[in-house]
Amino acid sequence: LLADDGSVAASIFAEMSALAVRTGALNLGQGFPDEDGPPEVLEAAQRAIRDGMNQYPPGRGLPVLRDAIARHQKRFYGLDLDADRQILVTAGATEALAATILALLEPGDEVVTFEPFYDAYGGLIALGGGIHRTVPLRAPHFQPDLDELRAAVTDKTRLILINDPHNPTGAVFSAETRALIVELAHRHDALIVTDEVYEHLTFGAAHVPISTLPGAWERTITISSGGKTFSTTGWKVGWLSAPAHLVTAILAVKQFLTYVNGAPFQPAMAVGLDLPDSYFTGIADVLRSKRDTLAEGLIRAGFTISVPQGSYFIVADARPLGYAHGADFCRALPGLAGVVAVPISAFCSPAHRHEYASLVRFAYCKTTDVLTQATRNLAALA
Ligand code: PMP
Ligand code: GLN
Repeated sequence: LLADDGSVAASIFAEMSALAVRTGALNLGQGFPDEDGPPEVLEAAQRAIRDGMNQYPPGRGLPVLRDAIARHQKRFYGLDLDADRQILVTAGATEALAATILALLEPGDEVVTFEPFYDAYGGLIALGGGIHRTVPLRAPHFQPDLDELRAAVTDKTRLILINDPHNPTGAVFSAETRALIVELAHRHDALIVTDEVYEHLTFGAAHVPISTLPGAWERTITISSGGKTFSTTGWKVGWLSAPAHLVTAILAVKQFLTYVNGAPFQPAMAVGLDLPDSYFTGIADVLRSKRDTLAEGLIRAGFTISVPQGSYFIVADARPLGYAHGADFCRALPGLAGVVAVPISAFCSPAHRHEYASLVRFAYCKTTDVLTQATRNLAALA
């Protein structure tokens, strides 16, 4: 977790956002929206502060939010959750991941993830003393080879940690992949941890939580966050749902990580989760057109890209432009085109980094003006 010189290694997102600020380049690196979310949600947090909701809420989260999470899971996925026992509010999806991994992993247990993987996974598995096994996702479709998945999951596997829709590739897993994950979890008595923070940001079929598959619920911890759905990444409100005995184990860890989470943001998230269906389809439609704007611009600039089916991100190969090393390319890009991107190598284990060396990630969760300007700038590279 430390850099070679012993300092704390800055995450790639922090490093690249600092580069954007320093150079004045357009930040298509870190995945945060540059517009505010729904006014009802913003107003509800301000109202909660004015109404005096400013002290410690319950550790599991305020009932008003847990009830709204349960209603949301029923409305979109047909799931019947017990809001008192099967839901836990967390400090973003990150704390849900941290508490889950620390609660359920014994030192030496194996955790299987796909690769590239969201950077926190590697750090958290290391903090939990786990052994990290990965299954490669390869361009252009970033779908796993099912035999490689079968080979990675063994009786040593404690957790299969998936992320669907996927950061950084934008892949949405096939029904076959999801079904195999459930089958393997059963065969090897593993638990499934599923990070679904982009659940409402898909551009094809509606999102399918893996917990809705037959036989999955009893061994699945489903994690999400309000950050992406309501453009409130700075609020850090997330949640998880799982069978009661797993929630109890995770709560035992969570109480010593953060104890409880920001009170006034919780009723505001509840307002968001209760917004009409049109809000949720609307954000996906808007994001899809942003994806298309950036995709066209990247192709015009000469990149080979993979068109994402969900999430905030497009993966582009810089080789056609003459750059074999994505990290060097990203460091040069502010100077070349006034744009910041993130190298995919930052989402890879040291052993496999070279296989993704020329790939970079661009975020399109930005205003149309920013995307249009960025694509104009990038055209200079062609
Ligand atoms: N998982 C994935 C896949 C992400 O992209 C992110 C970043 N937004 C997170 C987890 C962290 O979410 P949060 O900010 O809610 O902790
Ligand atoms: N999830 C966001 C991304 O992938 C940022 C998260 C972070 O900064 N840690 O860009």
